[in-house]
Amino acid sequence: MALKENDKRFWEQVKLLAEKNLKKATYDYFVTQAHLISVTGDKVKILVDSEMHKDWWRNQSDLINTAAMMVYGGPVDYNLFSSNELSDTEYKELNQISASSINTENGAITDSNVPYPFPSNLMPRYTFENFIVGKPNQLAIAAAQAVADTQTFGSTYNPLFIWGGSGLGKTHILHAIGNEYSKKNRHAHVLYVSAETFVNDYVNTFNRKKMDRDTFINKYRNLDLLLVDDIQFFNNQEGSINEFFSTFNALWDNGKQIVIVSDRPYSELTNLQERLISRFSQGLPIDVHTPDFETRLAILMDKATRLNLDFPDDTLAYIAGQVTSNVRELEGVLNQVEFTAKQQNVATVDISVAEKVIEARKVRNDGFKRTNLTINKVKDEVAKYYHLPLTDLTGPKRVKEIANARQVAMYLIRELLGTSLPAIGNEFGKRDHTTVMYAVRQVTDKMKNDSDIQRDVDNLRRKLE
Ligand code: ADP
Ligand code: MG
Repeated sequence: MALKENDKRFWEQVKLLAEKNLKKATYDYFVTQAHLISVTGDKVKILVDSEMHKDWWRNQSDLINTAAMMVYGGPVDYNLFSSNELSDTEYKELNQISASSINTENGAITDSNVPYPFPSNLMPRYTFENFIVGKPNQLAIAAAQAVADTQTFGSTYNPLFIWGGSGLGKTHILHAIGNEYSKKNRHAHVLYVSAETFVNDYVNTFNRKKMDRDTFINKYRNLDLLLVDDIQFFNNQEGSINEFFSTFNALWDNGKQIVIVSDRPYSELTNLQERLISRFSQGLPIDVHTPDFETRLAILMDKATRLNLDFPDDTLAYIAGQVTSNVRELEGVLNQVEFTAKQQNVATVDISVAEKVIEARKVRNDGFKRTNLTINKVKDEVAKYYHLPLTDLTGPKRVKEIANARQVAMYLIRELLGTSLPAIGNEFGKRDHTTVMYAVRQVTDKMKNDSDIQRDVDNLRRKLE
């Protein structure tokens, strides 16, 4: 049953009130993803993104009923659904709903003659601006930015294939490309999907007939930019892979941009056919590496500033030293430290607060560095590497070679163990914390230009991690 004018006004009102009263991030995350399915008497059905979104919407009765009072003159009784709970008619109906909402709300009639009535699924909170670029991800970002900046498609990077481990920002980059591209090309057709969603759409269209074939083709072939996440989860359900191959070719042949994200290089995607892999190999494969200490610290500092957190620098450095291989975990620790500090009314969030949080999380998570590393182990390895007696490393001698090794040792202790500057000073013949700070900066700076020191630090880090 199609929505009546009144119902559309009601939903408009819900969104207006939400936009006025909620934080932008909350609005973007929960409200833009939701759709009104139907209104029958005082029964309202709303489509939301996931179970988590349901929880949030359950608490929004004030919002919904204020809008209902304004439009219908009385409260409503609303129920929440996710897309797999919809009936066939509702599923088909929904595409028309998004069509009309796109056309009336922001006049986004596309440049091409065919209107594109599907939501892009882009998350506005993932942008290039809030992505920290460091050595490990700078190539990926450069390629991503180039793709987002291209005006005429058929870029040399087609498809752009981004791969890397979990929690390294791949999904973030994918959305950032879409957001940036949409901003520059207001009428472009952009779609973000996970491989899983593609398969679901395929099955719903061709096997369960919930979506008609034209709708499916319209959704996937009438695009300027297709962003596919987590291609490793593509399960070849009932021919969906053939459809993906055709979609890919149709877009590619027309010079439309495709970006694929995977958790492994394409040569290891055993779930896909050889002919698709060979298409991927025509584009640009780029991997995102685990962030180094500098990048991790920069990410933490940026997030802390955005969240208005007042953490001492050495607490942040400590977290950056402990959580080594997953940015999602890095964010998780930061949030939990903030929460714990608030709960316990801690005035200064020093390393000990972070230490407790990290210990507790380590039990159930990965992303942390191995625990058996100690300051003495770092000292030993560095001394051995530079063929120096340990006493020289920690002693007062200022000979260039020794001073250099000492600085590297201090740098590595700071990076790998996150030990505070004064504590490191103590370990090296009671040197002042400013000496340690200077050492860490020296090594950081030198690593930018001096390939010898770069190699030394890399070799040592590998021995120790
Ligand atoms: P992946 O898709 O690789 O598993 P995500 O893109 O979901 O990882 O990233 C996990 C979290 O870490 C997200 O909240 C993302 O915003 C954040 N993140 C990852 N890398 C960076 C970065 N370099 N700068 C800022 N935030 C980052
Ligand atoms: Mg992801």
